[in-house]
Amino acid sequence: MGDAQRFEVSELVVHGPDGVRPDPQAPSWMTAGRRATLALRGLHDAALTRAGADYDLTTVRAAVHALAAHGVDVTLIAPLADVLTTPDELIATLGEVAALALRFPGRLEFVTHGDVRPKDAWVAAAVDAGVLDAERHYTLSLERLRAVWSARLDGTTDEVARRLGEFLVRRLDDAPRRAIFASLRRAWLRLADGWPGGAMGKEPAMALATSLLGDVEGWMKRFRQYTYDTTRRVVLIPTWQCELRCSYCYIPKQDGRVMTVEVAERGVDLALSTDLTDVMIQFFGGEALLAWPVLQHAIDYAQTRARALGKTPSYVVSSNGWSLDEEKLSWMKERPIRLELSLDGDERTQNRFRPSRWKAAKSYDNSIATHASAILASGIEQYVIMVVHPTNVDAMPANFFHIADLGFKRIQINNMLGRVWTEAETASFARGLHQIGQGLIARWARGESIEFINMQHKPVAMRLNGEVTVDWDGTIYGGNSFLHETEHKDKFVLATLDDRTGVDRYWIDATDNHFLLDWSYRPTVTKNNVDVGKIMASFIGWMTKKGYRSDGPAAQAGPTEASP
Ligand code: SF4
Repeated sequence: MGDAQRFEVSELVVHGPDGVRPDPQAPSWMTAGRRATLALRGLHDAALTRAGADYDLTTVRAAVHALAAHGVDVTLIAPLADVLTTPDELIATLGEVAALALRFPGRLEFVTHGDVRPKDAWVAAAVDAGVLDAERHYTLSLERLRAVWSARLDGTTDEVARRLGEFLVRRLDDAPRRAIFASLRRAWLRLADGWPGGAMGKEPAMALATSLLGDVEGWMKRFRQYTYDTTRRVVLIPTWQCELRCSYCYIPKQDGRVMTVEVAERGVDLALSTDLTDVMIQFFGGEALLAWPVLQHAIDYAQTRARALGKTPSYVVSSNGWSLDEEKLSWMKERPIRLELSLDGDERTQNRFRPSRWKAAKSYDNSIATHASAILASGIEQYVIMVVHPTNVDAMPANFFHIADLGFKRIQINNMLGRVWTEAETASFARGLHQIGQGLIARWARGESIEFINMQHKPVAMRLNGEVTVDWDGTIYGGNSFLHETEHKDKFVLATLDDRTGVDRYWIDATDNHFLLDWSYRPTVTKNNVDVGKIMASFIGWMTKKGYRSDGPAAQAGPTEASP
């Protein structure tokens, strides 16, 4: 039996196309000509289950690994689809082909067989066109599938079919590069996840990626970006209107800029086009709650679609709290929604810097301050963003603790951007942060639960929001700085929803923070605001060094001094 006895493939039942069931322990079929042929009933677990196979994809991977480890090349014969194959399954099947070919480069050959007619028209079109393509380790099969479905979409007039086709084409956008990155990521992080025998070594994986993508300098930054996050985020702007007229807000508040339900659904589809399981959709504005029916529809639509796709969605609703009544809260608490609330502090501060659009109605009276008990009683996860205006920076510590005393125990401070801070204002900012630090330490010592959100992440002196953002009209931007209507607004445009691009591409090729800064503010303003941001960063560094984290003393280190 020689080497063949050591192959760990005995649990794989192999069905030859001629009905013969070779004995997996026999060396003849495995080593003849140093090429083994595995005839499979499918390359997707659902297809294998439907076909009554008593092995799954993990077993197939184990078999190929065992054979390849012995220098045996493998031909996999498998149908790409059966009668019930769905478009998602077909994408996954071709993804599996590419993943296997990338894991065992040069060792695998795929042959399709089967003459069944898939019921699904999209799948049938792909099978008819013959989408399997051995080029570039079979990653081009995914591109061919996209081309076939794109052509079909162009010829489709039925709206329901068009929406499905658009989603499928979006999902396949940039798929070959993502397949290569996924393979490299497994090697890089030594992830076994579903790959018996483990991932490829890092060096051969790098060499393979370079052979497919070119010089490492050209793609390493993008690869790092690809690996950076485990949740894909998309921001929707349901409306540009707002009840407030904050002094530092440049968003033009026209009526009529309201997202339609159709754009909202397509924005959700964009978010769900990711390869990742976790998807976060944020509703921003304007005041997102002014488009309440659109927001409700988008979330319920996302919930249904995510369930069908096996995704885990979550939502962030950014709100000034004006219209946050019990009815909305009780609807939201039944869903995985987090509230990002805004309040700048006490009555004087709020009314001065975040005035209402109507003279007769006071901002503070309609803010989260007056809705605090209902918000807190709802149990919905929330945190408050407090913007500090330089001309009011002396009041920052008092405003911070005013918000905390309203019962909002998770607070983030944003120093106002887009305006030059004077030296005196900057010095006051530094003093104020230290007062807040002292206050926090004292409250933590008394057992109060309170969190300074800025300390949760590594501080960056000035970071703009670069999230993929779908505006009310379906234009897609890199970040929300476009809301300021600057002369550089067009530079933030990535595409429109009609462009059929996938969200992962936007993320991988995301605009650098320094470009966002250059396009958002004048250089003198940016430099000044970065300097102010550095004070926050230095304060956080100091607190961390003293043994504090965002919600109190770090468990291990403990504080080394009583106060900053
Ligand atoms: S609440 Fe937000 S959108 Fe409304 S004016 Fe203030 S900053 Fe602008």
